[in-house]
Amino acid sequence: MRLPKLRELKEAITAVLRGPYTARFPAEPTPLPEAFRGQPVFDEDECVGCGACYEACPPDAMDLVDDVEAGVRRITIHLDRCIFCGQCEANCITEKGIKLSNHYDLATTDRGELRESVEKALLICESCGEVIGPRDHVRWVAERLGPLGFANPTLLLTAMEDLDAAGGVPTPSAHLRRGDKLRITCPKCRQVTSLLA
Ligand code: SF4
Ligand code: SF4
Repeated sequence: MRLPKLRELKEAITAVLRGPYTARFPAEPTPLPEAFRGQPVFDEDECVGCGACYEACPPDAMDLVDDVEAGVRRITIHLDRCIFCGQCEANCITEKGIKLSNHYDLATTDRGELRESVEKALLICESCGEVIGPRDHVRWVAERLGPLGFANPTLLLTAMEDLDAAGGVPTPSAHLRRGDKLRITCPKCRQVTSLLA
């Protein structure tokens, strides 16, 4: 009977000397482990708006909306549905577009505050108004393809626009013609210029 009591006394003294095991949050920030997964945050300069993170998100915590009128793709994370799994970061095609941060203090009474979003300018078909994709994504693909990208008129034109060398591109006509091949067109409209016009 005596031995266990001595052991408990030793443990009690050790605990008093060592201090509390619990963190003093919210009075002080909680120390975080190295691989902590907190709020995902977009990097607007590195994200190209491809939507791979949206496709990979297991609990469907992200929205992807193409606002054709405003000419932007908007990707929004609903942090109240996020499970901080890190699949968005793991599947980001640029590997830098989204990162899980150390931010964990998300408590709020207003769910509307629990949003993280990014907007990217859209490339839209000049003929039918169909969304081709975010401009930055098209540029990213063109960079990866290098000279091979010149085989695709949309990639070529986007690269020419970036070089301010696309002044000779024909203006859109009422009906697609072969001359419209070198315009920013979606795959469907390009097929028309190749096969039917
Ligand atoms: S951390 Fe997981 S749940 Fe949260 S947005 Fe990224 S993929 Fe979705
Ligand atoms: S670049 Fe990365 S962060 Fe941006 S939409 Fe694509 S996968 Fe998501």
